[in-house]
Amino acid sequence: YRVIELLHLTKRYGDTLAVDDLSFKVEPGHVTGFLGPNGAGKSTTMRLILGLDAPTSGRALVNGRRYASLTKPMREVGALLDAGAVHGGRSAYHHLLCLALTNDIGPARVAEVLELVGLSGVARKRVGGFSLGMKQRLGIASALLGDPGVLMFDEPVNGLDPDGVRWIRGLMRSLAAEGRTVLLSSHLMSEMALTAECIVIVGRGKLVAEATVAELTARY
Ligand code: ADP
Ligand code: ADP
Repeated sequence: YRVIELLHLTKRYGDTLAVDDLSFKVEPGHVTGFLGPNGAGKSTTMRLILGLDAPTSGRALVNGRRYASLTKPMREVGALLDAGAVHGGRSAYHHLLCLALTNDIGPARVAEVLELVGLSGVARKRVGGFSLGMKQRLGIASALLGDPGVLMFDEPVNGLDPDGVRWIRGLMRSLAAEGRTVLLSSHLMSEMALTAECIVIVGRGKLVAEATVAELTARY
């Protein structure tokens, strides 16, 4: 059972309704795009799904449960959020090892994900010195660490070179083809058209439309 479900999800920051009565379901087997301009509420929605923030009202569920009540959260859902924010003197290996150990994931998996994202060669280098592209790869490694069935990527192509961009698009498609649920957030329709099959469009925190990419490209 691999699904994200939002039920009247709402988040208010002072006067700002960052997420406004948002309800939709993300299913496995294809990449679902989460499209909207900057400030539309995409990152906030992902933070609410991950329990990093509490909703004002409504619910965000992963596999039918709130993030806080998942027994092994990183085995059920992995996320790349704000990858550029990672800093400090820890090595990439140490960074992932700490995440693994606090989430009951064996250390062998750390070497595996480093290889998967192409960071094996710099595993001993400090993450603070990483380029944005390397930080994106490290964020993807953290998301994949628990081998979760549900994955969320917030603006993943930011800072990647053309090879990196092609790599991550292929990675998202193959994760979906394996039967995982993949939510890709971006403010670029061009990004969606290349990777996603279904799109959820948001604006000012509200659901604007849900459609397949084929329907959207036929219409516009
Ligand atoms: P997106 O990811 O689509 O660019 P965000 O979820 O980052 O949108 O932001 C949605 C709205 O909520 C914006 O108006 C933003 O300024 C506001 N917002 C997000 N986080 C906070 C916060 N911690 N405090 C106050 N306002 C916030
Ligand atoms: P902080 O830096 O504030 O301690 P963390 O980065 O440790 O926050 O993450 C807070 C929560 O988010 C934890 O419950 C952790 O399990 C979860 N988390 C962190 N990274 C990921 C990820 N890549 N995928 C899924 N959950 C994550």
